[in-house]
Amino acid sequence: MSVPKIVILGAGYGGLMTAKGLAKELKSNEAEITLVNQNSYHYVTTELHKPAAGTSHHDHARLSIPSVINTKRIHFIQDRVTAIKLEEKEVQLENNEALKYDYLVIGLGSAPETFGIKGLLENAFFIRNIASVRTIREHMEYMFSRYANEKKEELITIVVGGAGFTGIEYVGELVDRMPELCRDYDIPLEKVRIINVEAAPTVLPGFDKELVDYAVKYLESKGVEFLISTPIEECTEDGVILKGGQEIKAATVVWTGGVRGNKLVEESGIETMRGRVKVDETLRAPGFDNVFVIGDSSLVFNEDERPYPPTAQISTQQGQYLGKNLAALLRGEEMKPFKYMPKGTVASLGRKEAIGVVGNKKLKGGAAAFMKKVIDLRWFYLLGGFSLVLRKGKL
Ligand code: FAD
Ligand code: NAD
Repeated sequence: MSVPKIVILGAGYGGLMTAKGLAKELKSNEAEITLVNQNSYHYVTTELHKPAAGTSHHDHARLSIPSVINTKRIHFIQDRVTAIKLEEKEVQLENNEALKYDYLVIGLGSAPETFGIKGLLENAFFIRNIASVRTIREHMEYMFSRYANEKKEELITIVVGGAGFTGIEYVGELVDRMPELCRDYDIPLEKVRIINVEAAPTVLPGFDKELVDYAVKYLESKGVEFLISTPIEECTEDGVILKGGQEIKAATVVWTGGVRGNKLVEESGIETMRGRVKVDETLRAPGFDNVFVIGDSSLVFNEDERPYPPTAQISTQQGQYLGKNLAALLRGEEMKPFKYMPKGTVASLGRKEAIGVVGNKKLKGGAAAFMKKVIDLRWFYLLGGFSLVLRKGKL
């Protein structure tokens, strides 16, 4: 007898939680579960700013997928999805035959939002995945090594475009990395320029002002320059051009100006806003009873009709919800509505400093940095229990 086929695309926060939840809830005679991901490993996106700066090795930010799933229950396919064919109920893959599904869960994450800014895609770096952060680190180190011979200031000038959470966390890691890097390449620390450019009138727009001021003061004390209310209008081979025409020459430009949904979702024909799907209360795509969208590919609105920002936190909760509720649906029960429970936000400023709001409590400094580590370890706990925390975690 054939059983319903569930296909999950993407082994990120949402996809992995969905797969693990379904495998726990459903017996093998109730559903066939397939997980597709382009790499054999899951990358821990919330850690990627560290290897991008070189403060940790990129292997700390990845985990073999078969090691964290029940491979007897979940059929894992390492391949790249090339198209989602909703009418045919199938997914096309680069190296394998097309996959038929009865239920589809899309958790393909996001892509950089470049707002059409000229030259960004060609000349800037992006903190996206293991390959991209390895490239940033190696490029930066090579530029520093060239400085010893060429003495051109732009070689040791780093521009970070966008002072949202990714930009600020990355700048925090750069600050930690610079003393060692400068020692390695015999460069006086004060010669290095780290410039964080932000279009909005403040760093971390929308976040608590007291905590933002703390972060800016701390980072400035370590030599970071902030340019606020200053949109980047172009990125060239030589650096960036700001609104008004000012040019900053920089050999390393890292764009952290925001994200949009994965383009495969747009191309599938599902209605999207900046590549993200406004899902219903059971996380279904509009017009498709058997297609669910989670994580950065989805858009969930709060009571004031404002979208929640795309985070690992909401992606994880969506995956946990779907693991239980898609299983219930298959058993003929009703799906409960998804309700996001925000627990707070903590952003690191390097290894020992952070800012955050947890519940209604503001945290800064060492206490916030400790809380950030606890949050990061929770993800390892959800994936592999205490043994994985002990293996991967470093408090
Ligand atoms: P992802 O985790 O991005 O996973 C998507 C998966 O799909 C990946 O494995 C990818 O390889 C795979 N995939 C993509 N395209 C294809 C394809 N065509 N074929 C096959 N597989 C494919 N959020 C927080 O809540 N807290 C934080 O502290 C935090 N820190 C962050 C720090 C950084 C540096 C960044 C960049 C983001 C951070 N975020 C944080 C945001 C968070 O990482 C994302 O919201 C989260 O990763 C989204 O999860 P997801 O499941 O939607 O997708
Ligand atoms: P973001 O959209 O939160 O921030 C992007 C920033 O870039 C904004 O401040 C924006 O004003 C600025 N910007 C846009 N265009 C610009 C331009 N032309 N010139 C200069 N600045 C420009 O994006 P992000 O920081 O990549 O974060 C993506 C998602 O991941 C968010 O939802 C964020 O909350 C989440 N995240 C969370 C954490 C955390 O919780 N610790 C860490 C990283 C990311």
